[in-house]
Formats: sequence, structure tokens, C-alpha cells
Amino acid sequence: MSSERPTWAPRLPRREIARLYETDARGIVNEDLVNEVGYGLFARCRSVLAVEEAYGERKVQCPSCRAQIRSDPRKDKIISCTACDWSLPWTEFRRTTRRKCLDIGGTPELSQTFKQWQANLKRSQGL
Ligand SMILES: [Zn+2]
Repeated sequence: MSSERPTWAPRLPRREIARLYETDARGIVNEDLVNEVGYGLFARCRSVLAVEEAYGERKVQCPSCRAQIRSDPRKDKIISCTACDWSLPWTEFRRTTRRKCLDIGGTPELSQTFKQWQANLKRSQGL
């Protein structure tokens, strides 16, 4: 039985975002920096939304097979994937999110904006 822990994208260093703005203001297009900041923010938003879905909508994405799992986030419950053999107690799941600033907090519009952005991206890629 697998009990792999979900992993979350880290916060982007402010200095990287500032550097992107500074180079852009000077008319310099640093593609490596654009990609680093862009993909970093994209990954971070996905992590924030995944955590929001887990606690708010009781949907967890299996870190092993990517299946959507419905689960009650109470302390005594276990998240179990029926598509593979992955499982993890909610107490352990909570530990993976603790002190990582992954809550959407007072910005629920971020969720809607990001979901729209993600849908547009998938549509533009023919997914
Ligand atoms: Zn699974």
C-alpha cells in the first residue's frame, strides 16, 4: 500500500518577481525568467486550489495516480484511492499543508480567475 505524501509548489521568491518587473521595465525580455516566474506562479496556484478543493469541496487528487478522491476531511478519517492502493490519514494530509500558506484566505476570486485561466490554457492547447 502506497502512502506517498502530496507535495505542494513553494512560494515564489519576491526577488524573482521584482526582477521580472525590473527587466520588463527596461524593455528586456528574459525568457528564462518569464518561464521561471510564470510556471512557478502557475504551480503555486494549482497547489493553493488543490488544498482549497481538499478542505472545501472534499476532493483530493491522488498523488499516485491523479484520480479524484471524495473524502471527508475529519481527523479520524483516511483518504483512500479506489483507483490504486494509495491512502493517507487526514491528519497526515493536514501535516503536508501546515505552515505553507496554502489557504486561499480572503481571495475567493483568485479561485475563479485561476480556473478560468486554466480552462483557457487547456482550450488553447487542445486539451
Ligand atoms: Zn490513486
